[in-house]
Amino acid sequence: AKQSGRCCYKFYCDSMNAKAALRLQLEQDLRSALSSGAILPFYQPQICAQNGRMVSVEALVRWIQPQGRMIGPDEFIPIAEETGLIIELGKQVLQQSCHQASVWMKNGNPIRVAVNVSAHQFKQSDFTDLVKQTLEEYQLPASLLELELTESVIMSDAEENISRLKELKAIGVTLAVDDFGTGYSSLSYLKRFPIDILKIDRSFMCDINSAPDDIAIVDAILALASSLNLGVIAEGIEYSEQITILKSTNNLLLQGYLFSRPVAAEYITLDRARL
Ligand code: C2E
Ligand code: CA
Ligand code: CA
Ligand code: CA
Repeated sequence: AKQSGRCCYKFYCDSMNAKAALRLQLEQDLRSALSSGAILPFYQPQICAQNGRMVSVEALVRWIQPQGRMIGPDEFIPIAEETGLIIELGKQVLQQSCHQASVWMKNGNPIRVAVNVSAHQFKQSDFTDLVKQTLEEYQLPASLLELELTESVIMSDAEENISRLKELKAIGVTLAVDDFGTGYSSLSYLKRFPIDILKIDRSFMCDINSAPDDIAIVDAILALASSLNLGVIAEGIEYSEQITILKSTNNLLLQGYLFSRPVAAEYITLDRARL
């Protein structure tokens, strides 16, 4: 038994080392990808439920490998968060997104771009300055930039975050709460946050046919948004039936594979704006 114990321990140890080596390799690769421009956002349309027009897109980051293989954010955002590379990554995505929105605007296609902001980034003392400078650099009106913060980021250190959100709001950007409904938002706090939009988490939209609980939560979010006068984005729309339970909502945007997957910037055209 002792023998096999030692053997197992050694095996465990080796596989730990292998894992650590892999992570280190991944960190190095990510670092060089960031300096070579291999990390770039795709864009997913957000459609006005009332007139079918694309009013905005969400920037969703991708890692394009030399062989053309594409890696999704779930595979490298966690490492970027752990290593602090998320600061540089987030900055690049913000710059690329503002540049792209500015190009669209100059082509007569003023589409708002929504950028995901990680907790790390949001807590940097110069984040508001970065946003301000980036808008200036690309001559993008603040009304064409939206920042998505998750409910858990906003609700941690609530008091501190209110002032950060107020700074951002003062610039004129749109503020959206991502993954809404998955955390523990205190409703009284919500009223005090200068936010514009609630994004209903995809998990509530998934089995809208079979899960009455999900429908109840969606209904509650819609009622909340309406009474606080907030816009709503429903993400993860894959079937038209999912839209029927949202129908009577004002100020509603729809996002999901039913309309489009996230695509490279060149596929976002005026044609798509008339879906
Ligand atoms: P998220 O912000 O909740 O983004 C929505 C995710 O749902 C995206 O996955 C999107 O491709 C996917 N999605 C959109 N419509 C549908 C649909 O109809 N069905 C299904 N099944 N999925 C749909 P993606 O692109 O893999 O991004 C995953 C997560 O990575 C994002 O979740 C976000 O948390 C994070 N992320 C992406 N880009 C960035 C970024 O630039 N910065 C930071 N900090 N995080 C990012
Ligand atoms: Ca998001
Ligand atoms: Ca989301
Ligand atoms: Ca999510």
